[in-house]
Amino acid sequence: MKTDAKCEICGKPATRFLFAAFVCDDESCIEKARMERGGPGGHKKRDLSELLGDG
Ligand SMILES: [Zn+2]
Repeated sequence: MKTDAKCEICGKPATRFLFAAFVCDDESCIEKARMERGGPGGHKKRDLSELLGDG
């Protein structure tokens, strides 16, 4: 499959789609993409606190 997508971190041609972002093979790019999403389960944690409300 051919795609024009570029790595959202460094701008090189993307090879994969991870954490809702296009990234290349560079581990630092993958790590940054993960950080952008708040880390593993980060968004779920935020959703949970919204469910519980703030008092
Ligand atoms: Zn990259």
